[in-house]
Amino acid sequence: MIPYGKQDITEADIEAVVSVLQSDFLTQGPMVPRFEKLVADYVGAQHSLAVNSATSALHIACLALGLEKGDWLWTTPITFVASANCGLYCGAKVDFVDIDSKTYNLCPVALQAKLEQAEREGRVPKVVVAVHLCGQSCDMAAIHALGQRYGFKIIEDASHAIGGKYRGGFIGGGHFSDITVFSFHPVKIITTAEGGMALTNDESLANRMALLRSHGVTRDPALMTHEPDGSWYYQQVDLGFNYRMTELQAALGVSQMERLSNFVIRRHQLANRYDELLADLPVVSPWQHQDSYSGRHLYVIRLQLDEICKSHHQVFDTLRELGIGVNVHYIPVHTQPYYQQMGFKFGDYPEAERYYAEAISLPMFQTMTDSQQDEVVAALRKAIGV
Ligand SMILES: *Cc1c(COP(=O)(O)O)cnc(C)c1O
Repeated sequence: MIPYGKQDITEADIEAVVSVLQSDFLTQGPMVPRFEKLVADYVGAQHSLAVNSATSALHIACLALGLEKGDWLWTTPITFVASANCGLYCGAKVDFVDIDSKTYNLCPVALQAKLEQAEREGRVPKVVVAVHLCGQSCDMAAIHALGQRYGFKIIEDASHAIGGKYRGGFIGGGHFSDITVFSFHPVKIITTAEGGMALTNDESLANRMALLRSHGVTRDPALMTHEPDGSWYYQQVDLGFNYRMTELQAALGVSQMERLSNFVIRRHQLANRYDELLADLPVVSPWQHQDSYSGRHLYVIRLQLDEICKSHHQVFDTLRELGIGVNVHYIPVHTQPYYQQMGFKFGDYPEAERYYAEAISLPMFQTMTDSQQDEVVAALRKAIGV
């Protein structure tokens, strides 16, 4: 089976992890700060906090922005459930904004229309989570301008997007948002097994997230309510969690960062090659906005079903039978039973649902060979019946 995504682990990665195992610190040592600095410097952010998953990063990002009961968080329905669940963790209510028909990202025009209505009804969101689907940035300038006008905060869920750029600056640099989140799950662009990071240029947000990452406990006298009782002293000043990343994970991350640029270059080669190989097939290849240099995490095609004698199901199942580990990203979040029970239903976000009825993620990972890619394309031809 050629998987849809796969990590690249080298001898150098293995040695980096083993040397941590032989060192004094398995957690809370020097590797996590090193990894944090490396990523922050790479993308041009001032502060970065490594955590045990992007889901944890989204949670503490929402809390740091003050999201709480009675507030609204808006995001796109075409994302992993975590982009919406983070709002529910904080006791906030979640709503969705339909996608753009070309980029499949949260549509700024739909966002504006929904904001105008929300303003009349007094339920403007506190936080909007912009998800860079497949690694292609959302239209952040437009979303940021709406944020200025309506007063909401912006989290970029860049789980797919490390190494990508928007208007020439690396995603994560924070020019159009308050906080950016990366994921280092093995199917993503670089991996730490499990892991994530929150980046910001706002020192107070960084301090708040640092507290929440580790029980709300501080050893910094400046944050305490009174002079420390002694040099052993710490204070719990907030209700936090244990969302820390281990030294083993951070060492793997440091080692992987050396190859990030090459990973993205290889992903672009593969994407460009797919574009050419699929040009004569009844499928829509991923459209790229001129402002965007995508991390190319996923390569999603849309079947032109009116030109194909097979159904979406049939094409998908045939590809799996032929050993191609295709997938669908994503099942619209509002159609998940947990969200339907809150009142969402099929029909709420037509563009997202149309996308879902046609989308297939083809295999895309940095170690994929050209001949594996040829195999994928041959199987797709067979599955479509052309
Ligand atoms: C993978 C992913 C997440 C969650 O990442 P974890 O590190 O597994 O918690 C969140 N949002 C999006 C868009 C993702 O793809």
